[in-house]
Formats: sequence, C-alpha cells, structure tokens
Amino acid sequence: MTDESIDHTIQKMYQEAYGKLEREILSLPQAIVPSEHSVPRNCPLGDEPPNFSQLPDDIFQRFLSEVFPNIRRCTEARKYGIISLRHNPGEPEKTAAEDVVDALRREARDQGVDRIGFTTVPRHLIFSDCAIVYPNVIMLAKRMDDGRLGRSPGIDGLTTTFETYASLGEAANHLADFLRRAGFGAAAGMSLGGAAFYPELAERAGMGARGRNGLLISDGAGPAQRLACVYTSIENLPQVEDNPHQWVQRFCARCLNCVRLCPVGALHHSPPRKVPGGHIYVDADKCRPYFEENQGCGLCIVECPFFRREYSVLKERAHRYLLSDR
Ligand code: SF4
Ligand code: SF4
Repeated sequence: MTDESIDHTIQKMYQEAYGKLEREILSLPQAIVPSEHSVPRNCPLGDEPPNFSQLPDDIFQRFLSEVFPNIRRCTEARKYGIISLRHNPGEPEKTAAEDVVDALRREARDQGVDRIGFTTVPRHLIFSDCAIVYPNVIMLAKRMDDGRLGRSPGIDGLTTTFETYASLGEAANHLADFLRRAGFGAAAGMSLGGAAFYPELAERAGMGARGRNGLLISDGAGPAQRLACVYTSIENLPQVEDNPHQWVQRFCARCLNCVRLCPVGALHHSPPRKVPGGHIYVDADKCRPYFEENQGCGLCIVECPFFRREYSVLKERAHRYLLSDR
C-alpha cells in the first residue's frame, strides 16, 4: 500500500462502516430519531480522506503498525454491530431479573470494561444525523493506557485512543450478543462515532461528572477513559437517583488547568453553555485541526489533576480546603 492510498483506504472503511450502515438504522421501523434540538455528530468519519500519509516517515511506520490495525478493528466492530441487529428477537423481553444484570456486569468486566452504568436516552442527546434502536442504555467505560497517554500529544496517545475505541466496540458487541441470547433486544453503540452524546449519558448514569475539558471524570480513571454503550429493550435497568460526582464541577471552577493549557484556546473559562441539544464545553472548530495536525492531543487529559492523582485524595483535599459543603 502506498502512503497516499492509506488515506483513501481509511476513508472507504469509514464510509462503509458508518455512512451506509447508519442509513440502515434510520430506515428501521423502530428507529428512535433525534429531536429538533439535536446537534450533528462532531466526528468526520469518511467525509474527507484523513491525511495520515503526511506523517514523518518514522511516525508513519508506527501509525501503520500500531494505529491502523485498531482503525480496522473499529470499523469491523461497527459493521458487526449493525449486521447483528437482525439477530434481535422479534418480541424482546423488557424486564430483567437481578441475576441477569449481575451476569452482565461480570461479562463486561471479563471484556475489560472498567465500569458500567444505566440510564435512558432523551431524544435531544441523539445526534441529528443518527438514530438509535432502544431508548434504554448500558454505558461502558474503559481506562486508556496511562503510560502512552502521558506522552501526548503524539502517536502514543493516538495509539491508546484507537486501541481503547476498538476494544470497547468489541466489548459492546459481545454484551449485545449476550443480551440477545437471554431474550432481550440489544444494539451495540461504538466508541468511535457513536450515535448519541456519551459523556452526558454517562453523567446521567452516575458514572462520573463532566469536567471543564468536556470529558467524563470518574473515580478510578479520572478523565483518561473512553465510552461506548449497548442500547437495550430492558426497561428496568437499575438507574441511580443521584450522581455523587457533581462536586467535580465545583473543583473545576477553581482549577481551570485545561482551559489555561489548551494550546488553541478551545476550552471556555465560563461554565459550559447549556443549549437545547446538551452542554457546550469544547470549541470543536479550534480543537479538531490541532488534534489532527498533532496525531491526537490529549493535553486536557494529561494536565488534569485527576489524571495524576487519586480521585479519593483530591476529593478529600477539595472538601477540606476548597469546598465548604462537606
Ligand atoms: S484535545 Fe487538545 S486542543 Fe482539544 S481541547 Fe483538549 S487540549 Fe485543547
Ligand atoms: S484540568 Fe482542572 S478544570 Fe480541567 S477538567 Fe481537570 S480538574 Fe477540571
């Protein structure tokens, strides 16, 4: 494969896995479509060829051996996620016994998923060019490789990002198959190019709180994680009433490290702006070009105190010295 042809190969892989198959979901009779307030997906999957072929020779060789195989895994997982919808039961079960949920948690752990949470998807959190199949969702989070991520921006950060995308996509497919075998309807939601706004859904599921960098911050992973999901027919998932992580947002208001250190000023000093389709944390028009030119970025992850320090330690200190409502 020549250097230039890799960009077109990746574009074709994205188009096959996302564009064509996305339209199949939209045409399903049970498709749940976005609301009038939904925003477009901010992830250019195949609109234009990427420009990985322009990387310096040594980096390009690492891209070919470390990143490209994971892009392929992502697109294969995505294709399987759509094709496997045909295996859903015609009349899926809607109520799951406790032992099914316990077994699901064990399966997720065996698949390398670090935490799961449950919520429902309001239509305004479905991207305007997408659709989903069930409104109940199991959110999945997996921590990225700290060592590689710590060398961001650069190819190491990009490698762990795509490796985590790929393994989460495969885990989502495994869990969807597991639920189908138990009589439930399920649809895997990929980590790369999901159909709904994952950080906000994970926050609703009580898995963490969104920091000023727009990322979910959790106990155990800080901001260094990626998200995927499984949509399901199960209506009695054990949803949480309260989110115990909301204090993180008040911590952020005192910290603002990521806002100060973002090289292109893509993060805002002011609290995230609420819009009908969710909250706006990141100026994507500023972040994306820098991200693409530098083979990923990740500075707003690695410079976050929650990346280097234990969540529990920060919580204890924050409540003692910064926040008054202990
Ligand atoms: S990924 Fe980089 S450019 Fe984008 S918001 Fe974070 S620090 Fe800024
Ligand atoms: S760097 Fe500071 S402000 Fe930014 S997300 Fe992390 S804790 Fe919040």
